[in-house]
Amino acid sequence: ESTLLDSSGVPLWRKQDVSAFQQSEATSSSDLFKSNEPGMISLGAGAPSSSYFPFNEVEVKVSNSPGEASESTIHVGKDDFEPGVNEYSLDVALNYGQGTGSAQMLRFVTEHTELIHNPPYADWQCCLTVGSTSAWDSTLRIFCEKGDYILMEEYTFSTALETALPMGINAASIKMDDQGPIPSALDHLLSTWNNADNQRRHGGARKPFLLYTVPTGQNPTGATQLLERRRDIYRVAQKHDLIIVEDEPYYYLQLPAYHNTNQEVKVDNPRQLIPSYLSLDVDGRVLRLDSLSKVLAPGCRTGWVTASQQIIDKFVRQNEISAQNPSGFSQVIVYKLLNHHWGHTGFARWLEGIQSEYTWRRDTLLRACDEFLPGDIARWSPSQAGMFQWIEIDWKAHPLYKAGADHGTIQRAIFASAVQQKVFLTQGSFFWCDSSAPESRMFFRATYASASQENLTEAARRFGVALRNEFHWYD
Ligand code: PMP
Ligand code: PLP
Repeated sequence: ESTLLDSSGVPLWRKQDVSAFQQSEATSSSDLFKSNEPGMISLGAGAPSSSYFPFNEVEVKVSNSPGEASESTIHVGKDDFEPGVNEYSLDVALNYGQGTGSAQMLRFVTEHTELIHNPPYADWQCCLTVGSTSAWDSTLRIFCEKGDYILMEEYTFSTALETALPMGINAASIKMDDQGPIPSALDHLLSTWNNADNQRRHGGARKPFLLYTVPTGQNPTGATQLLERRRDIYRVAQKHDLIIVEDEPYYYLQLPAYHNTNQEVKVDNPRQLIPSYLSLDVDGRVLRLDSLSKVLAPGCRTGWVTASQQIIDKFVRQNEISAQNPSGFSQVIVYKLLNHHWGHTGFARWLEGIQSEYTWRRDTLLRACDEFLPGDIARWSPSQAGMFQWIEIDWKAHPLYKAGADHGTIQRAIFASAVQQKVFLTQGSFFWCDSSAPESRMFFRATYASASQENLTEAARRFGVALRNEFHWYD
């Protein structure tokens, strides 16, 4: 079995008692290594003794495929460390760890990243995070200064924008089509950044150097960038020397094409994942954010970033002074599940199971949309990944439009009408990147992530009723 070694040849898992906290206390890294010498009695580390941890054993029952009732049991004891057999025990997991995350989890995600993405340069690395929300916050702290502009999709994950704004970081909006950001729009924005008009508009801000994108099953639009689109965006990034931050919580939720039929359709190889930006990254300009939130559970608060060693060094430093690493309970349970219980193959099987669950969910919602939504008011193109279906509404056909009502008023009226029918969708303007631009189109975001099969159908029926009521469009 492979083992990560540090620069002096010590397996990293032997160093778990060396905390990030300790590292910041140590005067130099060579001093630090001495605390690991055989026979050394350390009075150095300000880490508590595991004998005082009230947690002696953790037992977790796990499913082996999504929704399955049969279970297996995973045990982790406090002192069951055994070289080569069990290299991660509760006493280690619950003490201070390193800013990289535990060596065990780091090894697993590094192997996983190599298997799936195989980045085409030598010095890439991973670092554990407490999820992509926090990893994005760290990214902004590492790269940006107050007054900077970052590049975001026209409709973007609102939390990502809300992370930036209080830091005094603004977002420049990139026009999208059904595959996400349009390369020529990105190029044009950057090529004209320094002209007088734009300089005035952007308060003289330096040219943006960081693109935030959700390439697969984008939140909120559901847009998925195909390989050619990713290549084109990468070329523009090379031309303007951009860092690409790919936030990919939905990467494994790539779904086969939607067919409007109740018959079993032979799926067009759903297992073939679209290559990531990381896998195309010959320059080391991609920072990839991965998260276990959508494939295991959000409450694991476990994810990882992958980038060049220079960038990962900064993440480790940032972790040391903030979250440090995912909770020890999380890390040890997730690790036992992924590495010992499933292994890479079992994890891949789990991911395929998740994929097929989201496929029937998406198909159920779309069949109901086909059946119940008024086609001349509502339009959508089937989501190809993730958990969101973006639905466009022809708001200018609304009776209030002729009476002079604005976008916000009509959107709220439709929303209220849906709530009255007891169905909740999210209003598209919540995700608008540039709130100063006039909104010419109207969207609602529907998620098929968690409603029951029956309720997915019923929700679309209710939304259809709400739209007909609003648009006075009776059958
Ligand atoms: N503040 C002080 C003064 C400490 O000594 C320590 C660690 N001993 C911490 C904060 C770190 O606390 P936590 O483990 O909750 O991050
Ligand atoms: N990024 C995007 C695009 C998301 O849609 C979400 C969840 O909604 C997240 C990040 C949050 O991920 P995490 O739970 O890893 O913080």
